[in-house]
Amino acid sequence: MTKKIFAINAGSSSLKFQLLEMPSEIVITKGIFERIGSSDAEFTIKYGTEKEQKTLPIQSHQEAVDNLLNVLISKGIIQSLNEINGVGHRVAHGGEEFQDSAIINESVLQTIENLNHLAPKHNPVNVIGIKAFRAALPNVKSVAVFDTAFHHTIKPEVYNYPIPYKYYEKYRIRKYGFHGTSHEYIYKTITSLLDKREEGYKIISCHLGNGSSICAIDNGRSVNTSMGFTPLAGLMMGTRSGDIDPSIIPFIAEKEHKSNQDMNKLLNNDSGLLGVSGISNDLRDIEEAATNGNKRAELAIKMFVNRVAETISAYVSNLNGVDAIVFTAGIGENSATIRSLICKKLSFLNLTLDEKKNGSSEAFIETSDSRVKVAVIPTNEEVVIARDVLRIKQETNPYQSVLQ
Ligand code: AMP
Repeated sequence: MTKKIFAINAGSSSLKFQLLEMPSEIVITKGIFERIGSSDAEFTIKYGTEKEQKTLPIQSHQEAVDNLLNVLISKGIIQSLNEINGVGHRVAHGGEEFQDSAIINESVLQTIENLNHLAPKHNPVNVIGIKAFRAALPNVKSVAVFDTAFHHTIKPEVYNYPIPYKYYEKYRIRKYGFHGTSHEYIYKTITSLLDKREEGYKIISCHLGNGSSICAIDNGRSVNTSMGFTPLAGLMMGTRSGDIDPSIIPFIAEKEHKSNQDMNKLLNNDSGLLGVSGISNDLRDIEEAATNGNKRAELAIKMFVNRVAETISAYVSNLNGVDAIVFTAGIGENSATIRSLICKKLSFLNLTLDEKKNGSSEAFIETSDSRVKVAVIPTNEEVVIARDVLRIKQETNPYQSVLQ
């Protein structure tokens, strides 16, 4: 029997939605509310061949949800709210508590709220989205799908930081990793495209977008990932620094009389591609500037590529080999130049790109004699969310608390 499932991603002033028919994974409608909390919020909805955009006052996420459900009925996209069988919510941080997606009940909601301090910009707004849908559709199953859960298989020697152990015990400071739904989708998709075999595949999934992370996956299990305690760690990103020598932080703070909050902003919002190039956080602008001879744009691209190649190389060691490297997200899916530059640094793996395929829309872009497969696969986090709404069955909390 087919079901209609929402996949929801609530941001501080936005609400992204997709309504999917499952299990066919056909998108019935999708769209976004932006600038929620203002009198000129923006609502975009696509269904069939139609696309509509309007500006309207939307003061809260609750108003956005109510508005959306009314629109779905008034446009005949659904006939009645009873047709909606489930709602899946992307939740940024599941801490150590959530090792899988969870059916939302009062205790799950409370546990998510208890993790707010680990993702102060994301979890509280995810909870607002959950509450808005629960109020509008009180009898519909809702499921939380965590960005961190896919990484629960990472071992302690990888997730612990070499700082006094008491801070792990006291505050649970450790690597969590993010983009879990994307890496999971990539793993499942690439392995469905590869030949069937007994032995599991070793895959390196490169989610390169405004936020970027790489994940080493061994037979479906995340063994390492580049984001850490927060999504600031790892690769150089659009505006985030990624890993730097930690001593730089107190050094700049002292010289420039900056507070912890200022430093957090500097590293999260003013660094990365934007900080180095001084041009933009958008790779398209930087590639254009580099083509026109801008040296800092060139430097930013070289730094970005270098960090990605270094991380992939480290993960080949973690996995003790690699069968396929997959590029996804805005940069990974669209920049043939970046893919080519990264792969040139990986030639020691006997990996070679077919530049013609790299410039086309083919999924596999390596040469026939390359020892490692290279693929470009568009990510689809919404499908993973909708699949989990169907998959997660038990009403009790499928999480184990280790925080007693
Ligand atoms: P995401 O966060 O996955 O939406 O990725 C957004 C980023 O992808 C943008 O900031 C751009 O830097 C990059 N991007 C999108 N399209 C292209 C393109 N055609 N060429 C290069 N970079 C792109």
